[in-house]
Amino acid sequence: MTVEKREFKTEVKQLLDLMVHSLYSHKEVFLRELISNASDAIDRARYESLQNSALLEGDAEWKIRLTIDKEARTLTISDNGIGMTKDESIEALGTIAHSGTKEFLQALQSREVQNNPELIGQFGVGFYSSLMVADKITVISRKAGQPATTGVKWESTGDGTFTIEDIEKPGRGTDVTLHLKEEEKQYLEEWEIRTVVKKYSDFIEHPVVMEVEKETESSLEKGKKVKVKEDETLNSMKAIWLKDKAAVTDEEHNEFYKHIARDFLDPLKVIHYRAEGVSEFNALLYLPSKAPFNILYKDYKVGPTLYVKRVQIMDHCEELIPPYLRFVRGVVDSSDLPLNVSREILQNNRLVETIKTSITKKVLDVLEETKRDEPEKYREFHKEFGRILKEGIHYDFSRRETIADLLLFPSTKTEGDNLRTLQEYVDAMKEGQDAIYYITGANLKDTLKSPYLEAFREKDYEVLVFLDDIDDFVMSNLEFKGKKLKSVLRGDIDLDNSEKADIKKEEKKYRKLLDLIRDSLKDEVKDVRFSGRLTDSPCCLVADENDIDPQMEKMLKAMGQEVPPTRKILEINQAHPLLEAMNTLFEKDKDGEPLKEYISLLYDQALVLQGSQPKDPVAFSRMIARLMVEGAENKK
Ligand code: ADP
Repeated sequence: MTVEKREFKTEVKQLLDLMVHSLYSHKEVFLRELISNASDAIDRARYESLQNSALLEGDAEWKIRLTIDKEARTLTISDNGIGMTKDESIEALGTIAHSGTKEFLQALQSREVQNNPELIGQFGVGFYSSLMVADKITVISRKAGQPATTGVKWESTGDGTFTIEDIEKPGRGTDVTLHLKEEEKQYLEEWEIRTVVKKYSDFIEHPVVMEVEKETESSLEKGKKVKVKEDETLNSMKAIWLKDKAAVTDEEHNEFYKHIARDFLDPLKVIHYRAEGVSEFNALLYLPSKAPFNILYKDYKVGPTLYVKRVQIMDHCEELIPPYLRFVRGVVDSSDLPLNVSREILQNNRLVETIKTSITKKVLDVLEETKRDEPEKYREFHKEFGRILKEGIHYDFSRRETIADLLLFPSTKTEGDNLRTLQEYVDAMKEGQDAIYYITGANLKDTLKSPYLEAFREKDYEVLVFLDDIDDFVMSNLEFKGKKLKSVLRGDIDLDNSEKADIKKEEKKYRKLLDLIRDSLKDEVKDVRFSGRLTDSPCCLVADENDIDPQMEKMLKAMGQEVPPTRKILEINQAHPLLEAMNTLFEKDKDGEPLKEYISLLYDQALVLQGSQPKDPVAFSRMIARLMVEGAENKK
């Protein structure tokens, strides 16, 4: 048989290097990863054999077997699952098939991951973790339903290459053999394997079997002890989601959660309930304490594990949960779905829809209760997942107000961690205030200094601060308790109608000056008008009611998207003495250089106040310097 040698993809090489040289603690998680892979392979075989019983090849006794060979210093993890063809093994074991690989590699070098390598499981690179303990891995596999001659032997020492060879393998499934490093010999000990399986794989629903040596009485000679070898199942396989809620301990929840979510932290909250009625099912759901690195990636796997009458149907059933609750992990066990339920059936199934509605309501109810009864815990949740929950406002029209009231925001009146809900905001609205005002920004500190907030501060109106990239997009169309949400950065702001009359009067007085400014800046701005939002600053730039939000514009540009340039509106503070000063210049010489310079500086200031550069920084600095000199001379 020919042996082919191949190179790993670059990212795999980097990963292997880190595995071998950087990760030191919790090395035993390699066994959990390999057992999970074996269990997944069995689940797939069992599921596919429901449609095609030929895949069973007369063997439906699903099993994961661990074999220790002390002489050869190897540990083998075998399964009779789906197996791999040659091409599949090259693909599955030679590449990292997900986006965010670069971010992952960065994360892998962080202290957090170095101390908690269990995190690697979240990225689907579990297989390579065996290189923490082995200096060579041999994988022998044969796809279910294929002839014995289609077997494949894959081998690597983690040095950047692997070999691949056609072999014969009578039984379907996969054997992963680890050639253990000298210093990792403890994984050849029965008790060590037993402890690790118990700790990390107790809930795996297929038996993890190992041949163990036991002493028994000899049947031939009375009183004489003899050693016999017999199979022992190391894991308990208990389905804790079917137990009575009160009968499950915190400890069990913590272990089970870590097992299914491949997390290393305890869950923040447990949601365990049984539904009866139209659809009968048990749900055991968890809110994690920390968001996984990849939750914002496209290929993040959504949804709880679906079981039908204790039989696992699929690992991530996205039909059971709306995307904005994708942080929820857990298990749903249905009593009424058919065992051979396919993806197509799941997509248009009334029962599935009922389960999804029930879970959605339950999770939102629990969040509401947590917010009310355990505010600190809720803040922790919100810090990790508020951004994702928020997507629900856009996605789930019928529940948008419920979801909106689960969000917390800083505002011009909050301090520290003490955030606002929309309901609290509405309850504290001033008389005559008819909208919920918000400002978007990149960080709280700078946003709170924005000149756009001046008039709101003066009137003692609270303004919410939205710091997430999607905020303007999801929140600007929301109505909460009959109140519209309005960005203080966009459109006309009119907090007080009596002021409007003053503005009109002032406008008359300065109309000619305004016309000149408008004309001079016609290439830069859409319009020039007096402002209802400024009290201290001389001017600012605002977007039109329907224009794109500045934060959103920044985000789109950062994503490499083209954003058509929009011209803004220059608003001038009619109460600022600068206006009168400019008017004096205007009356003296409306075409003169000094007034032109003032107009240019006025616009530049507005640019600076919104966080942009002046149009021509050199000219800007020159003008300021000259005005400073003149100012100083006048003071003499
Ligand atoms: P993950 O299991 O998270 O996808 P791994 O690196 O552990 O990541 O495994 C990579 C892939 O290799 C799996 O997705 C699967 O396709 C394949 N694989 C690993 N172990 C087995 C096995 N025992 N049987 C069949 N396929 C396997």
